[in-house]
Amino acid sequence: ARTLRIGLIPGDGIGKEVIPAGRRILEALPASLGLKFEFVDLKAGFETFEQTGAALPDKTVEVLKSECDGALFGAVSSPTTPRKGYSSPIVALRKKLDLYANVRPVKSVMTAAKPIDMVIVRENTEDLYVKEERTYDAPDGTGKVAEAIKRISQRASSRIATMAGEIALRRQKIREGGASSIHKGPLVTITHKSNVLSQTDGLFRQTAKEALAAARFSSVAVEEQIVDSMVYKLFRQPEDYDVIVAPNLYGDILSDGAAALVGSLGLVPSANVGEGFAIGEPCHGSAPDIMGQGIANPIATLRSAALMLEFLNEEKAAALMYAAIDANLEEGRLLSPDLGGTAKTEEVVADILRRL
Ligand code: NAD
Ligand code: MN
Repeated sequence: ARTLRIGLIPGDGIGKEVIPAGRRILEALPASLGLKFEFVDLKAGFETFEQTGAALPDKTVEVLKSECDGALFGAVSSPTTPRKGYSSPIVALRKKLDLYANVRPVKSVMTAAKPIDMVIVRENTEDLYVKEERTYDAPDGTGKVAEAIKRISQRASSRIATMAGEIALRRQKIREGGASSIHKGPLVTITHKSNVLSQTDGLFRQTAKEALAAARFSSVAVEEQIVDSMVYKLFRQPEDYDVIVAPNLYGDILSDGAAALVGSLGLVPSANVGEGFAIGEPCHGSAPDIMGQGIANPIATLRSAALMLEFLNEEKAAALMYAAIDANLEEGRLLSPDLGGTAKTEEVVADILRRL
């Protein structure tokens, strides 16, 4: 039997309502899988910042690094007016644990307008998110000017493209195992804007192409799309896409857009992945508009827990979880309000656990 120690970081708002659901689905996995879980409750977020002065306490990072195999992260609130000393703990965590990939599968289950089954693989450590900004007075006296560094490295571009290739191969293997699919073969689409940003995005494009030209990806079709035209095609022909790899900012935007195609942010999971460590995280935020009502859709978190397990090499457990979730959605009887239903978080979780 394998014991996995999982950090639980609910954060703020509905994070506190959905992370307990993530814990429960892991605890409900059949004993025959030989998997055991230990959980550690950890703090981060705006509430933590107000209580302790740190949005990401050192202890949270320490415990994750030294004791945990993986973690589930809920969501955190960011104040609209910036507060001195506060910055997003998830962005800091990604850096501190070198979780260099943000992996977001977007899949339609119910009667969506079009079948969608894609994964967006977003570089997670650099690009404009290095947050090296500065503001100065325009020399001609016309007011202020602000600028930001967009940093793209060969190392980060190469490893993210390699991960995209690996994911494409893994998805193909699952299809060959009999899973029904809308895709014929593995495809990786490299997204960039190198027609304008020839050095930064040019380096990303070139490096990604080279990484995907490796012999072990010989069965993977590779194409490229300029990011604006990518958005157009994503909205018109989402069924064409299998794995999309993008630098940080484009990946962020494309994945929220793709989430809209499947009906609700409450369905879309993500994983922040590094060497031997993964944090599952729903794509949505802390949803202050619905917090405290017990109606948050738990599925993004349940799928994030499954995705975390995939990256901890527990694909069988993940497959069982996905199947139970898909069955709940396909039946369509116990759906949360964001999907047009009336079920409470608790009822959705109970239905999925029963199917598991
Ligand atoms: P949000 O994702 O919290 O909410 C957007 C809309 O989607 C809201 O109407 C909300 O009710 C709905 N929604 C989101 N998740 C849902 C779920 N599981 N079930 C049902 N409905 C759901 O985005 P926002 O409103 O722009 O931001 C709210 C707060 O969350 C802000 O403070 C923002 O900074 C923060 N945020 C955090 C993260 C993160 O922690 N990774 C991501 C995005 C936003
Ligand atoms: Mn985002």
